Amino acid sequence: MHNVRKFCYYGEEAMVIQSWSVDNSDRRFYGCPFYERDSRLACNFFVLFDPPTPEHLKIVILGLLKKKRAFDALLKKNSIQRNWRRLCVLILIVIVLKLIVFGSSKDCYIM
Ligand SMILES: [Zn+2]
Repeated sequence: MHNVRKFCYYGEEAMVIQSWSVDNSDRRFYGCPFYERDSRLACNFFVLFDPPTPEHLKIVILGLLKKKRAFDALLKKNSIQRNWRRLCVLILIVIVLKLIVFGSSKDCYIM
């Protein structure tokens, strides 16, 4: 079905557009090529590209998205902790290097 070229009411080849409307937010549709440039210039050609998503699959997809968001949040939290650990190690290295450099100097006020 998708290999068949579709033409809008102006005779232009229709393009596949992602819908962001509430009713069809997960679906793409064939629309007028002028739609994305200026929707006021577009004709009202509208043919759904994607078949409707069965309800049981919507539940599975929403569950997977929820798990993905939780996993992403965990990854972000671990990344922040890892960055803090790296910063602490870097600060320790700087302190040790300063102690080594100033420790051998006669002008050192630390000792
Ligand atoms: Zn058109």
